[in-house]
Amino acid sequence: MRGRGVVVALLLVAGCIPSGRDKPPPKAPPVSIEPDKQVLQCLGALGREGVRFKPLPDRYFANGCTAVGAVQLLDIGTPVTNLGAMTCPVARGFAGWVREAVQPAATAWLGSPVVRIESLGTYSCRPVNNQAGARLSEHGRANAVDVGAFVLADGRRITVASGWNGGDEDVRRFLRAVHDAGCRRFQVGLGPDANAFHRDHLHFDMGRGPYCR
Ligand SMILES: [Zn+2]
Repeated sequence: MRGRGVVVALLLVAGCIPSGRDKPPPKAPPVSIEPDKQVLQCLGALGREGVRFKPLPDRYFANGCTAVGAVQLLDIGTPVTNLGAMTCPVARGFAGWVREAVQPAATAWLGSPVVRIESLGTYSCRPVNNQAGARLSEHGRANAVDVGAFVLADGRRITVASGWNGGDEDVRRFLRAVHDAGCRRFQVGLGPDANAFHRDHLHFDMGRGPYCR
């Protein structure tokens, strides 16, 4: 297990928090809305990939939080609980990750497909790691997703919290496989090895990267 020891943990917390932005807060909403080409391209690709979704109106909140170019996923082939607004790139990355990484890895390592994924949420207007004074989390831009558990067709419930360093080697391999696959699809991927804030979930975002831990 990496990250053992107070000093190491503090260094990880201090040095490895991802996806920071040194830029000023987001601009005010544009007065005349010209459809964003990148968003439209992403929405088109998402539809072609067999995903059912609903585009959401752009939202600008207090404290610089936004949900711009975001969607609500309706059907990605595997039920997922607790998904809210996600930027299109996060939604597309997530749907592809479930389809092409999570399901094959579950079959390969655990011998059973995933019938439900338990998310810990997407949009949340808060600072990084919920630490007061830290910069805005990518969750505050609807640009991130957290995943805590996978329920298998055979009835098992695989959680990041107990499985990552648990006694079942196949579970450990499955969780590392989906973590690493997420790192390839998202700009940032974090799990229990990143820091104590991520001991119970995998975090993926489309902020500044690449960063994978
Ligand atoms: Zn997160």
